[in-house]
Amino acid sequence: MIETDILVIGAGLAGLTLARELSALGNKVLLLEKSRSPGGRLSTRRSDFGGFDHGAQYLTSRTAGFTSLLNQFSQSDELAPWNPAGKDSTRPWWVGTPGMSTLGKAMAHDLDIEYDTRITGIVKQDRQFLIHTENRSGAGPDYLAARVVAAIPAPQALELLTPVDPAFVQLKNVVMAPCWSAMLAFEAGLTDIQDLIRGQKSDVLSLIARNGSKPARTGETFVLHATPQWSREHIESERDAVKSAMLNAMREQTGLGGNLPDPAHFEVHRWLYALVETPLDQPFIGNPENALFACGDWCIGGRAEAAHQSGQALARHIMSL
Ligand SMILES: Cc1cc2nc3c(=O)[nH]c(=O)nc-3n(C[C@H](O)[C@H](O)[C@H](O)COP(=O)(O)OP(=O)(O)OC[C@H]3O[C@@H](n4cnc5c(N)ncnc54)[C@H](O)[C@@H]3O)c2cc1C
Repeated sequence: MIETDILVIGAGLAGLTLARELSALGNKVLLLEKSRSPGGRLSTRRSDFGGFDHGAQYLTSRTAGFTSLLNQFSQSDELAPWNPAGKDSTRPWWVGTPGMSTLGKAMAHDLDIEYDTRITGIVKQDRQFLIHTENRSGAGPDYLAARVVAAIPAPQALELLTPVDPAFVQLKNVVMAPCWSAMLAFEAGLTDIQDLIRGQKSDVLSLIARNGSKPARTGETFVLHATPQWSREHIESERDAVKSAMLNAMREQTGLGGNLPDPAHFEVHRWLYALVETPLDQPFIGNPENALFACGDWCIGGRAEAAHQSGQALARHIMSL
């Protein structure tokens, strides 16, 4: 049995922000993450053709707290500005270098994190919580903590937390959309395609991004995101069918049609909980005893900055207790 004061489930931006703030003030915090690396939806998939940012494309900031984080990591060259042809905003766009996952890795530095550890259940035990886990080899160790935070997408937090405390039933009101994401590399230069193309709601693709146009990337690599509507309609479709439909859509939405060559590399990833459509509209949620909490982008809105705001707001609340 491993004991800690505050146990955080999920090492995405919200969980990392929360853990950094609480650890900086001397709290004993342990993060448990089901993947093999931190960052959550700020992620990069490696391939023989280079890395692909198959989740979040770029970061923007409207709040002082997130701006300060972005400034800190841009000064240490973990973030750099991206100015793609087709940029449709005057705000600075920041990307991790050499991949989006760099930010999570940099934030995770010095934190106590166990990877490949999926939380499967939480049980109240006197004034503490017993946390059951599993890993690639089967059942993982149990953990004991006085406070537990689920920094994971709302539908997953709902499933884990409501059996322990009905206060979390409100998470049913949060709506998150899925997203099929495709990663493609081409042998030939595709100079006719703009770095960033947005689709309309009725299109298959909401975004075509020239991944290779981001700083510290090379190669003719592209990331495609399907619209929430199309992703929902094809959530259970076979990967080959999804690939074929997304490639056809790229042909159509770039205007290249049959002139778009077959990709040399092509894979897809299904994000079940990608983007927030209806947020909770409060910065975090806790139970009446202030012992069990949830935070994440879905509390506030569908951008990375919201995940940071939520993690920061909850850290401040816990520090005030
Ligand atoms: C396709 C896509 C495009 C996007 N584009 C942009 C964009 O351009 N700009 C922008 O600002 N935002 C974008 N976003 C949204 C942005 O990525 C998120 O708002 C942000 O990363 C959410 O952070 P989070 O910490 O709340 O959640 P997450 O990043 O989802 O982190 C949750 C973590 O919890 C872990 N986890 C889940 N369940 C368990 C469990 N049971 N046990 C242990 N660990 C668990 C997960 O592995 C994950 O690491 C995009 C997202 C996607 C998917």
